[in-house]
Amino acid sequence: MSTITSSIDASARSASPTFSFELYPPRSAASERQLLDSIEHLVDAGPEFISVTYGANGSSRSSSLSVLLRLLAETDVAAMAHLTCVGSSYADATRLIREFLDAGITSFLALRGDPPAGATESDSFLGDLGSAGELVQLIHRVQAERAPFTQQDVPGFPGAKRISHGDKVTIAVAAFPNGHPRSRSVEQDLDTLLAKEAAGANLAITQLFFEADDYLRFVDQARAAGVTLRILPGIMPVLSPQRLTRIVELTDEKLPTDLYRRLTAEDTTEGQAAVGIEHAIELSNAVIGIDRPGVHLYTFNQHEAVLAVLRGIGLLKTSPSSDRTIDHITKDYA
Ligand code: FAD
Repeated sequence: MSTITSSIDASARSASPTFSFELYPPRSAASERQLLDSIEHLVDAGPEFISVTYGANGSSRSSSLSVLLRLLAETDVAAMAHLTCVGSSYADATRLIREFLDAGITSFLALRGDPPAGATESDSFLGDLGSAGELVQLIHRVQAERAPFTQQDVPGFPGAKRISHGDKVTIAVAAFPNGHPRSRSVEQDLDTLLAKEAAGANLAITQLFFEADDYLRFVDQARAAGVTLRILPGIMPVLSPQRLTRIVELTDEKLPTDLYRRLTAEDTTEGQAAVGIEHAIELSNAVIGIDRPGVHLYTFNQHEAVLAVLRGIGLLKTSPSSDRTIDHITKDYA
């Protein structure tokens, strides 16, 4: 079994809550410098894993991979690669998976990715893989072909080897507590998640949500439908009303009017940041102990706000090397 698989599985089994982070690849030299600084602080906090997003059309292939390689080379934290398959042929997707596996990545978040606006499912340029479940199967297949078996020493018999199954990969998938924008019903979302699990996914990470009940209800429905995957709640500290409106636009989630009102009621960026962090703390506290405890924090490539959330829920074991104030946090997010 690979180290990464072991570390994520072991965390899943442990009773104490875990946390993980999402980063995106930098788009400029300046944002790269800022990201490297944030990675240092995020790694210090001791996350279960750090995931790195991937552009739907493959645009971020090399920049995503370079962040992942840095995590692998310079830290002990498990690095999870998001991969999308919309627009890819089987051959393209196979090549991509092989490239990431060859680079040492053994933990993936398999996504279909969003088709370009205006596309219909019959458009051939959407590629060969119609769903994230198909990508999950393909990752397992490519890995099984690369490493069909492993050899292990037999204790007490020097030189003897035992053959066992090849290294397994960790494959996470996306889950949507408030329904995927293209879904027609809750049942369709639950069926999609069941299909991802049947395809071989071993972890689910949710789309961000703003009310604890959204997650709690979804987990209940998923368990009743037969989903057994661990379902990690995805939470983002949102530090300004402008950011909230943008996030809602991008994810098609409903605007959380209470949070929006609380953010707009503050006159200062510091006050707004404090509201956003407080909201993320309340949300994390309400969901973290529920489903094989853990929380996945969307970082926006900034460490201060998510570390403030972890501190608020009592999960920050190490003191962060820089304990910056809300004032600094808001300047970065503005
Ligand atoms: P699928 O599971 O294949 O489909 C999702 C839903 O779409 C299904 O529930 C179903 O309701 C609906 N659907 C799918 N096909 C059809 C159809 N033919 N007809 C009707 N409905 C259909 N995007 C990126 O580009 N890069 C990333 O790194 C990235 N990371 C993400 C991380 C997380 C945790 C989440 C939640 C999302 C992320 N996304 C990312 C966004 C994601 O790619 C989109 O939400 C995409 O639309 C769904 O991908 P999926 O893997 O859930 O696809």
